[in-house]
Amino acid sequence: MEAQQEFNLKEFRKKAKLERQKRFENDSEKDKRITKMLCKTCFYKSDAIGGDAITQSPCTICGKIVTYPSTYIDALCDSCALSNNLCKHCGKEHF
Ligand SMILES: [Zn+2]
Ligand SMILES: [Zn+2]
Repeated sequence: MEAQQEFNLKEFRKKAKLERQKRFENDSEKDKRITKMLCKTCFYKSDAIGGDAITQSPCTICGKIVTYPSTYIDALCDSCALSNNLCKHCGKEHF
């Protein structure tokens, strides 16, 4: 990689990180976040990038097996997240 490209990439990452921090503080995409049933930390700070493999994981509350299209899995199934008002991904924070 050329020095200029490397520099651009670095600047881009820096900017992306700042952008994410700003969105986190303002909760600027609250509607979208609530729709996805995620807490602020999971929605704004995780990159939500997992491997491509189909992954199955049981919900930590009801034990129902949930199938995910990637290795990015959630702690809870949709209905448990909704009925308990918990973040679907970490299962901890109120969303
Ligand atoms: Zn469940
Ligand atoms: Zn969370």
